[in-house]
Amino acid sequence: PGGAPRHRVTVLGSTGSIGTNTLDVLARHPDRYEVFALSAHSRVDELAAQCARWRPRFAVLPTPELGRALSERLRAEGLATEVLTGAAALEQVAAHPEVDSVMAAIVGAAGLPPCLAAARAGKRLLLANKEALVVGGQLFMDAVREGGATLLPIDSEHSAIFQCLPEDRTTWAQRIDHIVLTASGGPFRQRDPASLREVTPEQACAHPNWVMGRKISVDSATMMNKALEVIEARWLFDLAPRDVRVVIHPQSIIHSMVVCRDRSVLAQLGTPDMRVPIAYGLAWPERIESGAEQLDFLSLKALTFEEADAARFPGLQLAWTALEAAPGSTAVLNAANEIAVEAFLAGRLRFDRIPAVNAGTLESLSIPAGAAGSLEGLLELDAMARRHATELVARLGV
Ligand code: NAD
Ligand code: MG
Repeated sequence: PGGAPRHRVTVLGSTGSIGTNTLDVLARHPDRYEVFALSAHSRVDELAAQCARWRPRFAVLPTPELGRALSERLRAEGLATEVLTGAAALEQVAAHPEVDSVMAAIVGAAGLPPCLAAARAGKRLLLANKEALVVGGQLFMDAVREGGATLLPIDSEHSAIFQCLPEDRTTWAQRIDHIVLTASGGPFRQRDPASLREVTPEQACAHPNWVMGRKISVDSATMMNKALEVIEARWLFDLAPRDVRVVIHPQSIIHSMVVCRDRSVLAQLGTPDMRVPIAYGLAWPERIESGAEQLDFLSLKALTFEEADAARFPGLQLAWTALEAAPGSTAVLNAANEIAVEAFLAGRLRFDRIPAVNAGTLESLSIPAGAAGSLEGLLELDAMARRHATELVARLGV
């Protein structure tokens, strides 16, 4: 009361791991932020509870049926939140004139249209949804520039790099020699590669250092997550693909590093807690309390580093392959991976065949000229790659 107006935040994917961590940080700063809109894909009960707690102007669900179920719940509780449904509603709440910041925490390419809408509307765009940038590439970055948006990375590695760089982006190219993304190596870092064929979804989703959604957990186990992050970093920091490197660091304490021209190395450290990059994205260039534990240096035994083994993680290399290939290749890679992960989680594909589906789709699909130049083109390419990958999954089987 009487202070500065509160910052209005839309949280896309508010029921997910990043979404709930975002609300946890927002709850620590009620005088600073208010929630403008929330969105979920299936969890109506959780979204209803979030609406009761946050009283947003809008709540978004994918279908009219789910929308009606939520409306009834909200009406029974006397809440004024307006329920919107369908993909266009996500764009509407991302680009609404009264919104200041958009947390993009949807999983997969489904998040690209609302991200583009927020970028074109000049929002502060907090990007957790790495697939949106992997698919959108140049088009996404052009939309950010042309819309005058502020793109803030939430992925912990990219937040780390961003935290190591000065605010003035025009100095970045002059300073950076290359960057090193750290990777935990996931749950199978030391497992016999020959035994990866037996991996179950439960084993793949049990990450040693982070609790995350199922898709990114599988991606971490195959290291396709790191492949997507290499592509994400190429665009966020405008780097040549070869200047984005990866090293395994099993403790996940160093979240990534910038190697400067003078060979000075800047790193960002902390406990593995996504509320740190989320708080930084929300408050940048300021810093606010995140709820994370302090790093206890004396309890750290060792910080170790290893090379990512290409035999164990054949998917990782596909990042550079796709970045060097025709524009749109990274969208193809992402679509194939979404299909492969979904098939693995449904018991229709062996874990060790996920990279084969990704590589096979990338090789077999010829990208129509100009496909990467528009959202429509990219969505068609995405659909085409999903069909190719689905056929490949059926052929490879379990
Ligand atoms: P999650 O599965 O826990 O949550 C995903 C959210 O998106 C849910 O709210 C769900 O309702 C919504 N959603 C799913 N499919 C949708 C669709 N087709 N249309 C609209 N909404 C949909 O996932 P998460 O772990 O929170 O990850 C979200 C994004 O953040 C991913 O892109 C992931 O790679 C990235 N990320 C996550 C972490 C993490 O620690 N969880 C870290 C870095 C980056
Ligand atoms: Mg990450």
